[in-house]
Amino acid sequence: MSRILHRSLRKDPMLAVSGKGLLVRGADGQPVIDASGGAAVACIGHGDERVVQAISEQARQLAYAHTVFFTCVAAEELADLLVGDQPGGLSHAYFVSSGSEAMEAALKLARQYFLEIGQPERYRFIARRQSYHGNTLGALGLGGNMARREPYEPILAGCFSHVSPCFAYREQEEGERDSDYVQRLADELEAEFQRLGPNTVAAFVAEPIVGATAGCVTALPGYFPAMRAVCDRHGALLILDEVMCGMGRSGTLHAWEQEGVSPDIQTIAKGLGGGYQPIGAILAQARIVQALTEGSGAFKHGHTYQAHPVACAAALAVQRIIREDGLLANVRAMGERLEAGLQERFGNHAHVGDIRGRGLFWALEFVEERASRRSFDPARKVHEAVKDAAMAAGVMIYPMGGTLDGRTGDHVIIAPPYTAQPTEIDRIVDRLGAAVDQAL
Ligand code: PLP
Repeated sequence: MSRILHRSLRKDPMLAVSGKGLLVRGADGQPVIDASGGAAVACIGHGDERVVQAISEQARQLAYAHTVFFTCVAAEELADLLVGDQPGGLSHAYFVSSGSEAMEAALKLARQYFLEIGQPERYRFIARRQSYHGNTLGALGLGGNMARREPYEPILAGCFSHVSPCFAYREQEEGERDSDYVQRLADELEAEFQRLGPNTVAAFVAEPIVGATAGCVTALPGYFPAMRAVCDRHGALLILDEVMCGMGRSGTLHAWEQEGVSPDIQTIAKGLGGGYQPIGAILAQARIVQALTEGSGAFKHGHTYQAHPVACAAALAVQRIIREDGLLANVRAMGERLEAGLQERFGNHAHVGDIRGRGLFWALEFVEERASRRSFDPARKVHEAVKDAAMAAGVMIYPMGGTLDGRTGDHVIIAPPYTAQPTEIDRIVDRLGAAVDQAL
């Protein structure tokens, strides 16, 4: 019996012993195709020698340097690579060890920014229902994943509130034009600003493509500019959480590049280090950093392992590989192939209500009845059944149950590494098809 407090305390997970390319092998030598990058993490596949070498060289040379005393070459070069050309005006990076830590840092940077510019009354954050921003208490309080929030509700902070997401399949009314739906959502955000007191809101926070909670939900064209306009009208920041959908997963390095806005603060994590090391980051606009520089002269936040040299060296190698191997072009090409394959295999499936996503980031939402879009009874845990059948068929896809408010059903995410080849994409669709047929 394992001594680890595993996610499931009733059933130990498979023992993974090695990984190469898209394959993860268990102790029995059986290969599983990693068709979800874990949870959209393994962006360049497993076992890339270039990253292994970067990690070992960094560990040999300098394994750790506390940021009160030192910076290190790997962190400096990684920051230069990410924000040296100031994408969308983002000029500085702050490195942490996970997506949740990145979200916490983003909230605190936004709060401190308003203190520095003499607006101490701004401390509220508006996020969206059916969102996920992490599991630490600040990030959990911010997020709209009701299942994850529910047990901890009494100990979550009261400065967070939620508006509707842009979720056409579930929430656009019949006959409602796209532009009217976007306007309805902008009006709802405006009303929430008014309800809270516009000058008390520090930021609106959203995932450009909603990840695990609702399953690869892209926004309608014009949605993000409309949300940005509401924030600008009231002097609040726009924080975009690209922990899951960022760093190339959507086909561009940042998902916001396809949305007609750029964030004031952005979080990134999973695709940053590709799973080779735990690392996340926030990227921030020059004017925000300048306010802190000219004000108290410090970001009043910190972690022992921030900007860890080995983690930064791994992420630097991963980011160079994405650029040097032209992987974004492959994400777009393989994304089209994956979309076509999913449409062909599941387009008429009685229990697949929606196929949605972008780049190499796709989800299937399962329904009991297609016409009415009625979800399965959550007690059936259909997503788990599909995951188990898929693992038995040798393919890993990421499962997620329906939301507690009943506004979205069970779904699975397909997010293979950016290195995936056509035969691998086809095999993923084939095996997933067999697993879905067996489970439902
Ligand atoms: N934000 C988003 C959009 C995520 O998908 C996640 C994790 O799935 C997080 C934040 C939290 O990241 P982590 O699990 O690394 O703490």
